[in-house]
Amino acid sequence: LEEGARCRLLLVRHQLEQDIKPSYLMDHMISDGVITVDEEERIRTYSTRRDQAAALLELLLRKDNRAYISFYNALVKETYEDLASLLQRDLPRISTKTRNSTSDVPSLNVQTVLSEGGVPQRPVVFVSRTELVNRVRDNLYRLLKEPGWITIFGMAGSGKSVLAAEAVRDHGLIEDCFPGGVHWLSIGQVDKPDLLVKIQSLCFRLEQSLDSQSLHRPPNSLDEAKERLRFLMLRKYPKSLLILDDIWDSAVLKAFDIHCRILLTTRNRTLTDSVSGAKYEVEVESGLDDNKSLEILALYTNTKLQGLPEEARSIVRECKGSPLVVSLIGALLREKPNRWRYYLIQLQQKQFKRIRKSSSYDYDALDQAMAASLEVLPEEHQELYKDFTVIEKDVKIPAKVLSVLWDLEPEEVEDILEEFVNKSLLFVDNHSKTNLYYLHDLQLDFLVEQNRTELESLHAKVVRQYQQHYRDGPPTSRDEESLYWFRYLTYHMAKANLSQELYSLMFSLDWVSIKAEILGPAHLINDYVEFATILDKENSDVRSQFQDFLSMNGHQLEQRPFPDVVQLALSQPQTSEVYRQALQKAQGRASSG
Ligand code: ADP
Repeated sequence: LEEGARCRLLLVRHQLEQDIKPSYLMDHMISDGVITVDEEERIRTYSTRRDQAAALLELLLRKDNRAYISFYNALVKETYEDLASLLQRDLPRISTKTRNSTSDVPSLNVQTVLSEGGVPQRPVVFVSRTELVNRVRDNLYRLLKEPGWITIFGMAGSGKSVLAAEAVRDHGLIEDCFPGGVHWLSIGQVDKPDLLVKIQSLCFRLEQSLDSQSLHRPPNSLDEAKERLRFLMLRKYPKSLLILDDIWDSAVLKAFDIHCRILLTTRNRTLTDSVSGAKYEVEVESGLDDNKSLEILALYTNTKLQGLPEEARSIVRECKGSPLVVSLIGALLREKPNRWRYYLIQLQQKQFKRIRKSSSYDYDALDQAMAASLEVLPEEHQELYKDFTVIEKDVKIPAKVLSVLWDLEPEEVEDILEEFVNKSLLFVDNHSKTNLYYLHDLQLDFLVEQNRTELESLHAKVVRQYQQHYRDGPPTSRDEESLYWFRYLTYHMAKANLSQELYSLMFSLDWVSIKAEILGPAHLINDYVEFATILDKENSDVRSQFQDFLSMNGHQLEQRPFPDVVQLALSQPQTSEVYRQALQKAQGRASSG
């Protein structure tokens, strides 16, 4: 038993002896396997309840951390909340022994569990924030016996996601608390249709790993998605952990209020106020402390801590503890190890003066570091990097989208992306079959700010490149690349002010049909709502005819095998544009036999 827990137990021993009913508690402890039936019997030989209680505590003091936790949980279950809360503060982490031997090299098994669940790997250069990681793990152990919420909150870029991923990289923890697995879901700033798509994909992932043959219809509303997820988490994946990364809105959490075990990261502390269940929180107060930041620089430049030049400390101070900024500078120094002074001066320049009310976070350092990193890229690559400006936040894209966007061979794209990744300008998620690339939110803020005047033309470039590449019709596969286009093409058109393009796409039964097949109708309906003002300038009747068609047939369009859209459309009123296009197609079919 670790020292803190032991002291705590000795301290409150008297109170416990007075109140507890050992026989009930021992039942729980036996079923947790922390005491044996023999031990129980020996305790029962004492005649009074109080003596039995004393003997149980005596036994507990000789046991390990697991027993202490089991005892704690038993108190909670037997509604001795007050007593339990006395013990809570020193609740130990159980897996000290397994952790020491495995924390650095997770065993294959845990790695598989995490990778199947989509938990991101460590960044290339990584320093461990032991104290914080342990705080998160301690809280995760509290979910051993009952569901609940753990919130990691802190500023943007303070390392919350990396911390969440690191906390579950622990053999003992997974084995003890989450044998059902760990499932990662990046959320970000989403609206309802996007959230639905995210939960759909999570359900799909969970169902696939149970039975790759299963062909469930995707849930088509948030309520249905919530029920599906509830069923999966409670029945099929009991004792598993769901990690929700970067939540902005408490409305999002409602969809996950299903009595399961959740770890979430957010910038907003009060998010879980509106959901039910046990709640715990860990604050990532500031960024890295100076020594950790120095460690990152040392790792990047392959030097010993003591061997760092004197500028290192000043650089770290300018980075204000932001692991993101330190990583950008570290990556620069790796390539130009004699530029410590130079980058220090760059960081100290205050060329970006932006007013951002949203947070007290110091963005200057990030802006300077981003500018410095971009500066060392060849000019053509600087131009290419600019294209990320118009990718929506929290969206991860496959290299193939960039290959279309840049009109380059996949191999060339790969090389360029590797360069960006090495400079910490870009991050890669390589869980699925295809690598997916993304920027940190703050990096996107920087790009948007910097390219403010070019946004429209950058969006237009995306549309043009798509049109060029898919001259003969939209993609027909269901890979990540096609998904991107189906999801975001209309968004780019709208942002590029390409209204004409937007009408011809969205007023076309072909597009509607293929998008509904690939993404489901919810997303499409949302497009008509979101772009209503633009579409209505062309023809508000046609816009509502398409929207009506989708709302009326939403249920059918969810079915698999996918229904014949022309047939469905033929039952629209004859005055509808949807009907007109369907009729044309039906006649075309008839004449071609
Ligand atoms: P947040 O989720 O708080 O916005 P992230 O966890 O995404 O922040 O971290 C931002 C970046 O900072 C990461 O992409 C990584 O480059 C760097 N970083 C964060 N934590 C660490 C760490 N422990 N060691 C090294 N780099 C880190």
